[in-house]
Amino acid sequence: MTVNFTELRESLSGDVLEASDAEYERARLCFNLLIDRRPAAIARCLDAGDIAAALTFARQHDLEIAVRGGGHNPAGHCAVDDGLVIDLSRMRRVEVDPDARLAHSQGGATWSDLDAAAQAHGLVTPGGVVGSTGVAGLALGGGIGHLTAQYGFTCDNLLGAELVTPAGETIEVDGDATPDLLWGLRGGGGNFGVATRLTFRLHPLSTVIGGRFDYAGGGVRDAIRVFRDMVAGTDGDLSCQAQLKVDEALTPALTVVPCYTGSEDDPEEHRALRSAPGLVGDGVRRHGFLDQQRVFDPGYGIDRNYWKSHFVPALPDDLIDALLDRIGALGRPPGGILIESLRGAPQRIDSSSAAVGYREAAFNISAMAAWTDPALDDEHIAWARETATAIEPWSISGGYANYMQADEPLDRIRAAFGPESFDRLRALKTRYDPGNLLHRNQNIPPR
Ligand SMILES: Cc1cc2nc3c(=O)[nH]c(=O)nc-3n(C[C@H](O)[C@H](O)[C@H](O)COP(=O)(O)OP(=O)(O)OC[C@H]3O[C@@H](n4cnc5c(N)ncnc54)[C@H](O)[C@@H]3O)c2cc1C
Repeated sequence: MTVNFTELRESLSGDVLEASDAEYERARLCFNLLIDRRPAAIARCLDAGDIAAALTFARQHDLEIAVRGGGHNPAGHCAVDDGLVIDLSRMRRVEVDPDARLAHSQGGATWSDLDAAAQAHGLVTPGGVVGSTGVAGLALGGGIGHLTAQYGFTCDNLLGAELVTPAGETIEVDGDATPDLLWGLRGGGGNFGVATRLTFRLHPLSTVIGGRFDYAGGGVRDAIRVFRDMVAGTDGDLSCQAQLKVDEALTPALTVVPCYTGSEDDPEEHRALRSAPGLVGDGVRRHGFLDQQRVFDPGYGIDRNYWKSHFVPALPDDLIDALLDRIGALGRPPGGILIESLRGAPQRIDSSSAAVGYREAAFNISAMAAWTDPALDDEHIAWARETATAIEPWSISGGYANYMQADEPLDRIRAAFGPESFDRLRALKTRYDPGNLLHRNQNIPPR
């Protein structure tokens, strides 16, 4: 069926791209080149009215909908074959109220946009570690980054939103008027509506002691143990992530990225990491928060990705050995295993305040296959799946929704929230999107 988009084009303040438009090819791309979809049209909205019009048009013409924020979801949920993409990439304004310590971020803003606006006032909110990632997609799915230990998950700092519901109604979400919906937005993803604005709590912070320590060769096993023991002793002033990789010679390599915000100039934790075996690079120093946000800076849309993660309560030696076996099986760079420490604020925050269900976890461990040659798709996807299977005996939940591919079974999504929260999310979904119009996400099916 061919749909005529003239009426939609005429009703929007933004624009509508079809395959014949010059910008279409770039606009349909996701961060993950494994996803190659051709939407019937891409509605680049400018405000809530445009979003409501696009939702109504899609409903009337029976078009499948995808919502695009920063375009980073590894499952490629922001693109849909033959459907309508509601694209928020022209809605990237961030307004900061320094006195109230609040940031109001439009639905298509990226972390570079939010970080820059907040840092202009010496303020931060805990976000993602790569600037081109969408604020909305990341925050609605939880949000782990360089300030998790200090301020919790990104969604813990989400105080309110403006949402266009699948019925086309614009509603304010906050803790007073709609506490249930705010709870659901804190982890339940884009299931309940399209967020035109998200409001975050900000914290004063300008510089951190961060950067990266690099390790290689035979010392890597012991260096991971030092990383593990070091984060176990931290509380709320050090976030830390580690990436296990192989270099061109297939030697294991480890990068540890701390972000310290305490009062010491040379914290004990960094001394421990500095004296760990196999250290080949030390780029850790005091720098601006925006520099820390550039420590991981991959290019946009340059490779194919398949990720799978597990939350674990600890990182025992036998799990470290299993991870080293799996990194040996990777066979070639890039790609690797990401280990994100979740110690600190996430455990201190009242678990009933948000839908996210992994506050008991000490680490999020993710197999992240990345490659460029389509001929290697099967091999890399198999590596990620087998690596996740190897981690599974230590897992305590269904995995991190923000890193899930589209092939995850419903049970794993349910397990990520726990049965009680999942039921509550389903009740919210039934109320706000009974027809499951917004299903291109880690989907919570209505009852
Ligand atoms: C390079 C890279 C780095 C990453 N780093 C981190 C990290 O440090 N920490 C972390 O926790 N995660 C990280 N992620 C994962 C990321 O949080 C998720 O992929 C997230 O879904 C990306 O959001 P997006 O808006 O960019 O994605 P999109 O693909 O545009 O959107 C994904 C989904 O989010 C929902 N969505 C997006 N915008 C809106 C909106 N305005 N209203 C309603 N729903 C919306 C929709 O359901 C949409 O399908 C990273 C991903 C990549 C590729």
